[in-house]
Amino acid sequence: MKSSILIIYTGGTIGMKTDEATGALVPFDFSGIYDEFPSLKRLNVDIEVLTMTPPIDSSNVSIDNWVDLARIIRDNYPRYDGFVVLHGTDTMSYTASALSFMLENLAKPVIFTGSQIPIGILRTDGRENLITAIEIAGARDADSRPLVPEVALYFQNRLFRGNRTTKQSAEELNAFRSYNYPALAEVGVNIHYNFSAIRKISVADSQLRIAEKMSDEVVVAKLFPGISRQTLRSILLGSNVRGIVLETYGAGNAPTAAWCTELLSEVISRGIVVVNISQCKDGAVAMHLYETGLRLQRLGVVSGHDMTTEAAVTKLMYVLGKNLPLQETIEMMRSPLRGEFTE
Ligand code: ASP
Repeated sequence: MKSSILIIYTGGTIGMKTDEATGALVPFDFSGIYDEFPSLKRLNVDIEVLTMTPPIDSSNVSIDNWVDLARIIRDNYPRYDGFVVLHGTDTMSYTASALSFMLENLAKPVIFTGSQIPIGILRTDGRENLITAIEIAGARDADSRPLVPEVALYFQNRLFRGNRTTKQSAEELNAFRSYNYPALAEVGVNIHYNFSAIRKISVADSQLRIAEKMSDEVVVAKLFPGISRQTLRSILLGSNVRGIVLETYGAGNAPTAAWCTELLSEVISRGIVVVNISQCKDGAVAMHLYETGLRLQRLGVVSGHDMTTEAAVTKLMYVLGKNLPLQETIEMMRSPLRGEFTE
Protein backbone atom coordinates (compact mmCIF):
# COMPACT_ATOMS: atom_id res chain seq x y z
CA MET A 1 0.00 0.00 0.00
CA LYS A 2 1.18 3.51 -0.81
CA SER A 3 2.03 5.87 2.04
CA SER A 4 0.16 9.15 2.08
CA ILE A 5 2.18 12.25 2.81
CA LEU A 6 1.11 15.77 3.60
CA ILE A 7 3.58 18.45 2.53
CA ILE A 8 3.18 21.63 4.53
CA TYR A 9 4.83 24.63 2.92
CA THR A 10 5.49 27.37 5.47
CA GLY A 11 7.68 29.62 3.29
CA GLY A 12 11.39 30.11 2.68
CA THR A 13 13.78 29.87 -0.23
CA ILE A 14 12.75 26.39 -1.27
CA GLY A 15 9.40 27.73 -2.44
CA MET A 16 10.75 30.20 -5.00
CA LYS A 17 11.19 30.00 -8.75
CA THR A 18 12.24 32.43 -11.45
CA ASP A 19 9.46 34.07 -13.39
CA GLU A 20 10.23 33.29 -17.05
CA ALA A 21 8.99 36.69 -18.18
CA THR A 22 10.57 39.00 -15.61
CA GLY A 23 13.46 36.98 -14.19
CA ALA A 24 12.27 37.84 -10.66
CA LEU A 25 11.86 35.25 -7.88
CA VAL A 26 8.20 34.37 -7.42
CA PRO A 27 6.50 31.74 -5.25
CA PHE A 28 6.53 28.17 -6.54
CA ASP A 29 3.10 26.54 -6.58
CA PHE A 30 3.57 23.26 -4.70
CA SER A 31 0.06 22.13 -5.59
CA GLY A 32 1.44 21.50 -9.09
CA ILE A 33 4.21 19.34 -7.66
CA TYR A 34 3.54 16.34 -9.91
CA ASP A 35 3.75 18.54 -13.04
CA GLU A 36 7.06 20.02 -11.89
CA PHE A 37 8.53 16.69 -10.82
CA PRO A 38 6.81 13.91 -12.75
CA SER A 39 9.33 11.42 -11.36
CA LEU A 40 7.62 11.78 -7.97
CA LYS A 41 4.91 9.49 -9.32
CA ARG A 42 7.43 6.68 -9.21
CA LEU A 43 7.78 6.96 -5.43
CA ASN A 44 5.43 4.72 -3.52
CA VAL A 45 3.60 7.68 -1.98
CA ASP A 46 0.48 9.77 -2.45
CA ILE A 47 1.16 13.44 -1.87
CA GLU A 48 -1.07 16.30 -0.88
CA VAL A 49 0.11 19.85 -0.32
CA LEU A 50 -1.01 22.50 2.10
CA THR A 51 0.41 26.01 1.93
CA MET A 52 0.30 28.09 5.09
CA THR A 53 -1.00 31.55 4.43
CA PRO A 54 0.81 33.73 4.06
CA PRO A 55 4.08 31.86 3.50
CA ILE A 56 6.74 33.54 5.64
CA ASP A 57 10.46 34.10 5.60
CA SER A 58 11.48 31.98 8.54
CA SER A 59 13.10 34.96 10.29
CA ASN A 60 9.52 36.03 11.02
CA VAL A 61 8.45 32.76 12.59
CA SER A 62 6.61 33.13 15.89
CA ILE A 63 5.16 30.96 18.62
CA ASP A 64 1.75 31.43 16.97
CA ASN A 65 3.13 29.96 13.73
CA TRP A 66 4.42 26.94 15.67
CA VAL A 67 1.03 26.44 17.28
CA ASP A 68 -0.66 26.69 13.84
CA LEU A 69 1.74 24.12 12.46
CA ALA A 70 1.19 21.76 15.39
CA ARG A 71 -2.58 22.09 14.93
CA ILE A 72 -2.33 21.31 11.22
CA ILE A 73 -0.37 18.16 12.01
CA ARG A 74 -2.81 17.14 14.75
CA ASP A 75 -5.88 17.75 12.60
CA ASN A 76 -4.43 15.80 9.68
CA TYR A 77 -2.72 13.14 11.75
CA PRO A 78 -5.17 10.28 11.18
CA ARG A 79 -5.25 10.84 7.40
CA TYR A 80 -1.53 10.73 6.63
CA ASP A 81 1.35 8.38 7.26
CA GLY A 82 3.90 11.16 7.41
CA PHE A 83 4.48 14.88 7.08
CA VAL A 84 7.08 16.94 5.24
CA VAL A 85 7.46 20.50 6.47
CA LEU A 86 9.07 22.91 4.01
CA HIS A 87 10.60 25.73 5.98
CA GLY A 88 13.12 28.54 5.54
CA THR A 89 16.54 27.41 6.65
CA ASP A 90 17.32 30.38 8.91
CA THR A 91 15.20 29.23 11.83
CA MET A 92 14.38 25.70 10.73
CA SER A 93 16.27 24.19 13.69
CA TYR A 94 14.21 26.28 16.12
CA THR A 95 10.92 25.20 14.57
CA ALA A 96 11.99 21.55 14.35
CA SER A 97 13.06 21.67 18.01
CA ALA A 98 9.85 23.40 19.09
CA LEU A 99 7.67 20.91 17.24
CA SER A 100 9.60 17.97 18.67
CA PHE A 101 8.39 19.08 22.12
CA MET A 102 4.93 20.30 21.14
CA LEU A 103 3.93 17.07 19.36
CA GLU A 104 3.49 14.81 22.37
CA ASN A 105 3.38 11.05 21.69
CA LEU A 106 4.32 11.54 18.06
CA ALA A 107 4.46 8.19 16.29
CA LYS A 108 4.75 9.28 12.65
CA PRO A 109 7.53 11.01 10.69
CA VAL A 110 7.59 14.80 10.59
CA ILE A 111 10.49 15.65 8.28
CA PHE A 112 11.67 19.23 7.93
CA THR A 113 13.56 20.37 4.88
CA GLY A 114 14.26 23.45 2.78
CA SER A 115 17.01 24.66 0.50
CA GLN A 116 19.77 27.20 0.12
CA ILE A 117 18.95 27.78 -3.56
CA PRO A 118 15.32 28.25 -4.72
CA ILE A 119 13.65 25.17 -6.14
CA GLY A 120 12.98 26.88 -9.45
CA ILE A 121 16.68 27.59 -10.11
CA LEU A 122 18.57 25.06 -12.17
CA ARG A 123 21.31 24.40 -9.61
CA THR A 124 18.87 24.07 -6.71
CA ASP A 125 19.56 21.81 -3.75
CA GLY A 126 15.83 21.86 -3.05
CA ARG A 127 14.80 19.17 -5.50
CA GLU A 128 16.86 16.42 -3.91
CA ASN A 129 16.05 17.63 -0.38
CA LEU A 130 12.33 17.59 -1.14
CA ILE A 131 12.20 14.26 -2.93
CA THR A 132 14.29 12.42 -0.35
CA ALA A 133 12.38 14.00 2.54
CA ILE A 134 9.16 12.67 0.98
CA GLU A 135 10.68 9.23 0.54
CA ILE A 136 11.84 9.17 4.18
CA ALA A 137 8.47 10.41 5.48
CA GLY A 138 6.78 7.57 3.61
CA ALA A 139 9.28 4.81 4.45
CA ARG A 140 7.80 1.91 6.40
CA ASP A 141 8.99 -1.52 7.50
CA ALA A 142 7.49 -4.88 6.58
CA ASP A 143 4.86 -4.43 9.32
CA SER A 144 3.89 -1.01 7.95
CA ARG A 145 5.52 0.84 10.84
CA PRO A 146 7.20 4.14 9.95
CA LEU A 147 10.98 3.97 9.88
CA VAL A 148 11.46 7.44 11.38
CA PRO A 149 8.69 8.14 13.91
CA GLU A 150 10.04 11.47 15.13
CA VAL A 151 10.67 15.10 14.16
CA ALA A 152 13.73 15.05 11.91
CA LEU A 153 15.50 17.41 9.54
CA TYR A 154 16.76 16.30 6.16
CA PHE A 155 19.40 18.35 4.35
CA GLN A 156 22.14 17.51 1.86
CA ASN A 157 22.18 13.75 2.15
CA ARG A 158 21.77 13.51 5.88
CA LEU A 159 18.80 13.04 8.15
CA PHE A 160 19.19 14.39 11.68
CA ARG A 161 17.07 14.42 14.81
CA GLY A 162 15.41 17.85 14.52
CA ASN A 163 16.17 19.03 18.06
CA ARG A 164 19.89 18.21 17.64
CA THR A 165 20.41 20.46 14.62
CA THR A 166 21.92 23.89 14.07
CA LYS A 167 22.20 25.91 10.90
CA GLN A 168 25.95 26.36 10.64
CA SER A 169 26.50 27.87 7.18
CA ALA A 170 24.90 30.67 5.23
CA GLU A 171 26.93 29.65 2.20
CA GLU A 172 27.45 25.89 1.99
CA LEU A 173 24.67 23.72 0.64
CA ASN A 174 25.55 21.46 3.52
CA ALA A 175 24.03 23.99 5.90
CA PHE A 176 23.07 21.93 8.95
CA ARG A 177 24.99 19.97 11.54
CA SER A 178 24.12 17.74 14.43
CA TYR A 179 27.28 18.05 16.49
CA ASN A 180 26.33 15.86 19.38
CA TYR A 181 24.15 13.13 17.91
CA PRO A 182 24.75 10.85 14.95
CA ALA A 183 22.78 11.15 11.71
CA LEU A 184 19.56 9.14 11.64
CA ALA A 185 20.22 8.31 7.99
CA GLU A 186 22.94 8.86 5.39
CA VAL A 187 21.86 9.13 1.79
CA GLY A 188 23.95 8.07 -1.16
CA VAL A 189 22.82 5.76 -3.90
CA ASN A 190 20.67 4.17 -1.19
CA ILE A 191 19.22 5.49 2.04
CA HIS A 192 21.07 3.94 4.98
CA TYR A 193 19.05 4.25 8.16
CA ASN A 194 20.91 4.28 11.46
CA PHE A 195 18.26 2.34 13.35
CA SER A 196 20.09 2.40 16.66
CA ALA A 197 19.89 6.23 16.67
CA ILE A 198 16.23 6.53 15.65
CA ARG A 199 13.70 6.95 18.42
CA LYS A 200 11.72 3.85 19.34
CA ILE A 201 8.05 4.30 20.04
CA SER A 202 6.12 2.25 22.48
CA VAL A 203 2.62 1.05 21.70
CA ALA A 204 1.23 2.94 24.66
CA ASP A 205 2.38 6.21 23.12
CA SER A 206 -0.22 6.20 20.40
CA GLN A 207 -2.42 9.21 21.13
CA LEU A 208 -0.99 12.39 19.62
CA ARG A 209 -1.49 15.48 21.75
CA ILE A 210 -0.16 18.92 21.11
CA ALA A 211 1.01 21.63 23.47
CA GLU A 212 -0.72 24.84 22.45
CA LYS A 213 0.94 27.04 25.04
CA MET A 214 4.60 28.00 24.74
CA SER A 215 6.00 30.60 27.12
CA ASP A 216 7.68 33.66 25.63
CA GLU A 217 9.25 34.54 28.99
CA VAL A 218 12.63 33.10 28.01
CA VAL A 219 15.96 34.80 27.31
CA VAL A 220 19.35 33.66 26.06
CA ALA A 221 22.32 35.18 27.89
CA LYS A 222 25.66 34.63 26.21
CA LEU A 223 28.61 35.31 28.49
CA PHE A 224 31.68 37.09 27.16
CA PRO A 225 34.81 38.30 28.93
CA GLY A 226 34.20 41.87 30.02
CA ILE A 227 30.42 41.60 30.34
CA SER A 228 29.45 44.07 33.04
CA ARG A 229 27.36 43.42 36.06
CA GLN A 230 24.74 45.92 34.84
CA THR A 231 24.47 44.34 31.41
CA LEU A 232 24.12 40.81 32.75
CA ARG A 233 21.70 41.98 35.42
CA SER A 234 19.46 43.70 32.89
CA ILE A 235 19.35 40.54 30.74
CA LEU A 236 18.78 38.07 33.57
CA LEU A 237 16.35 40.14 35.57
CA GLY A 238 14.43 41.73 32.73
CA SER A 239 10.72 41.98 33.32
CA ASN A 240 8.79 38.76 32.72
CA VAL A 241 11.81 36.48 32.54
CA ARG A 242 10.97 33.01 33.89
CA GLY A 243 13.61 30.97 32.11
CA ILE A 244 17.20 31.67 31.08
CA VAL A 245 19.43 29.78 28.69
CA LEU A 246 22.89 30.69 29.96
CA GLU A 247 25.54 30.15 27.28
CA THR A 248 28.71 29.54 29.26
CA TYR A 249 32.28 28.73 28.32
CA GLY A 250 33.72 25.30 27.50
CA ALA A 251 32.39 22.56 29.74
CA GLY A 252 29.87 24.93 31.36
CA ASN A 253 32.02 27.47 33.15
CA ALA A 254 31.20 31.01 34.24
CA PRO A 255 33.19 33.69 36.11
CA THR A 256 33.50 33.14 39.85
CA ALA A 257 33.53 36.88 40.64
CA ALA A 258 31.37 37.57 43.69
CA TRP A 259 28.99 39.83 41.76
CA CYS A 260 28.30 37.09 39.21
CA THR A 261 27.61 34.46 41.86
CA GLU A 262 25.39 36.86 43.81
CA LEU A 263 23.47 37.81 40.71
CA LEU A 264 22.80 34.20 39.74
CA SER A 265 21.82 33.34 43.26
CA GLU A 266 19.34 36.25 43.26
CA VAL A 267 17.93 35.09 39.92
CA ILE A 268 17.45 31.54 41.18
CA SER A 269 15.95 32.66 44.48
CA ARG A 270 13.26 34.45 42.45
CA GLY A 271 12.21 31.10 40.97
CA ILE A 272 13.73 31.74 37.55
CA VAL A 273 14.99 28.56 35.88
CA VAL A 274 18.57 28.81 34.60
CA VAL A 275 19.80 26.20 32.09
CA ASN A 276 23.51 25.98 31.41
CA ILE A 277 24.61 25.17 27.87
CA SER A 278 28.02 25.58 26.33
CA GLN A 279 29.04 28.09 23.71
CA CYS A 280 31.01 25.22 22.15
CA LYS A 281 28.77 23.46 19.66
CA ASP A 282 30.58 20.19 20.06
CA GLY A 283 30.57 18.58 23.48
CA ALA A 284 28.65 18.90 26.71
CA VAL A 285 28.38 20.85 29.93
CA ALA A 286 30.03 19.03 32.85
CA MET A 287 29.61 21.39 35.79
CA HIS A 288 31.52 19.21 38.23
CA LEU A 289 34.83 19.54 36.35
CA TYR A 290 36.02 23.00 37.42
CA GLU A 291 35.31 25.31 40.31
CA THR A 292 33.85 27.74 37.75
CA GLY A 293 31.19 25.18 36.85
CA LEU A 294 30.74 23.62 40.25
CA ARG A 295 29.73 26.97 41.66
CA LEU A 296 26.86 27.15 39.17
CA GLN A 297 25.74 23.65 40.06
CA ARG A 298 25.70 24.52 43.77
CA LEU A 299 23.59 27.60 43.03
CA GLY A 300 20.93 25.39 41.41
CA VAL A 301 21.71 26.01 37.74
CA VAL A 302 20.32 23.13 35.65
CA SER A 303 22.73 21.32 33.31
CA GLY A 304 21.70 21.52 29.67
CA HIS A 305 24.21 18.73 28.88
CA ASP A 306 24.92 18.86 25.13
CA MET A 307 21.74 20.64 24.05
CA THR A 308 21.78 23.15 21.22
CA THR A 309 20.63 26.70 21.91
CA GLU A 310 17.62 25.97 19.70
CA ALA A 311 16.61 22.95 21.75
CA ALA A 312 17.26 24.64 25.11
CA VAL A 313 15.19 27.73 24.22
CA THR A 314 12.23 25.82 22.83
CA LYS A 315 12.29 23.23 25.61
CA LEU A 316 12.15 26.01 28.21
CA MET A 317 9.27 27.63 26.29
CA TYR A 318 7.45 24.29 26.22
CA VAL A 319 8.05 23.36 29.85
CA LEU A 320 7.29 26.85 31.21
CA GLY A 321 4.16 26.88 29.04
CA LYS A 322 2.80 24.09 31.21
CA ASN A 323 2.83 26.35 34.28
CA LEU A 324 3.90 23.59 36.62
CA PRO A 325 5.22 24.11 40.15
CA LEU A 326 8.91 25.12 40.12
CA GLN A 327 10.30 21.73 41.21
CA GLU A 328 8.37 19.90 38.47
CA THR A 329 9.54 22.44 35.91
CA ILE A 330 13.15 21.87 36.96
CA GLU A 331 12.63 18.11 36.91
CA MET A 332 11.31 18.25 33.34
CA MET A 333 14.24 20.42 32.28
CA ARG A 334 16.59 17.84 33.82
CA SER A 335 14.96 14.93 31.97
CA PRO A 336 15.47 14.18 28.29
CA LEU A 337 11.97 14.46 26.78
CA ARG A 338 12.61 13.80 23.07
CA GLY A 339 16.23 12.73 22.91
CA GLU A 340 17.33 16.36 22.94
CA PHE A 341 20.44 15.69 25.02
CA THR A 342 22.81 12.81 25.68
CA GLU A 343 22.51 11.35 29.16
N1 ASP B 1 15.59 33.70 4.69
C1 ASP B 1 15.16 32.40 4.23
C2 ASP B 1 14.32 31.79 5.31
O1 ASP B 1 14.82 31.29 6.27
C3 ASP B 1 16.33 31.57 3.90
C4 ASP B 1 16.00 30.17 3.47
O2 ASP B 1 14.90 29.76 3.29
O3 ASP B 1 16.94 29.41 3.29
O4 ASP B 1 13.12 31.83 5.21
